[in-house]
Amino acid sequence: MKANVDKSGCIGCGLCVDICPEVFRIGEDGLAEAYAPVTPETAERATEAKDACPVSVIELEGEES
Ligand code: SF4
Repeated sequence: MKANVDKSGCIGCGLCVDICPEVFRIGEDGLAEAYAPVTPETAERATEAKDACPVSVIELEGEES
């Protein structure tokens, strides 16, 4: 599974990084980016980060529904 952050909407609050630092980090531009693939180990926290994002700019590709 792969995570994507739509930087045009990210407000750089850092919540996703707090929740799932294995996948998300704050880049040099002060906005979040997904720098690593989502693994079975991190899928739960990546989903939590997605749900917690206050502006809903995190997308998970290949999410099981
Ligand atoms: S939680 Fe959302 S708004 Fe906050 S840094 Fe992460 S992607 Fe950006």
